Amino acid sequence: MRRVHLMYHGIHDDASAPGHFDPVYSVAPARFARQLDWIAAQGQPDRFHVTFDDGDISNVTTALPMLRERGLRATFFITSGFIERPGMVRRSDVRALADAGMHIGAHGMSHGFLEDMDLDALRRELRDSKAALEDIIGREVDAMALPGGRGGAREIDEALACGFRDLYGSRPGPDDDSTQPRWRNRVAITRDLGDAKFAALANWSGPAARWARLRHGALAVPKRVLGNARYQRLRAALT
Ligand SMILES: [Zn+2]
Repeated sequence: MRRVHLMYHGIHDDASAPGHFDPVYSVAPARFARQLDWIAAQGQPDRFHVTFDDGDISNVTTALPMLRERGLRATFFITSGFIERPGMVRRSDVRALADAGMHIGAHGMSHGFLEDMDLDALRRELRDSKAALEDIIGREVDAMALPGGRGGAREIDEALACGFRDLYGSRPGPDDDSTQPRWRNRVAITRDLGDAKFAALANWSGPAARWARLRHGALAVPKRVLGNARYQRLRAALT
């Protein structure tokens, strides 16, 4: 089965909603509901894997009830060092997600880019982010989304050595024969994505999919810089 992993962040109508609104990545609740309805209507909902990065509080307050209503399971990649910060999930929220049958994955301790770290810092980051979540939910955490989707051979080898079995990046596309073992592609779902385009991306078909792949390749560098700047603002707001 060709699975498509969908990458979400927060679910917000606007900046007044609980959590950290992002003009690019915050998907409006009504639109998110339509996307979940579409997934549920496909007959094989396991083909579409809903994932969330960072641990915004809206993951619990807004997304969780909507997933449960439709009997869908999702993975929440939570940045361990952000837990209990304003607008982010608390320890009790992480437990509530796990108790609801949701899958908990790691997303770094500090959200720093792993490839910028020296080996000691990288190993600490991997180990601590995993241990912090395992301490909260009382079971193994074996999946990780790399902050910024960034990492190469060193980061993958170290994460596998640390005990992670599934690693998620942000190269758009389905899992297919070209995917390295244990390395998952993901499709970013952004605020401006209309319903028809969402369906095309989730099915990984047509020009929308080809364009997403091309754009990812061509814009890797500027996107990295924009991503960084956006993240700096979030980090500044959190401290
Ligand atoms: Zn992130």
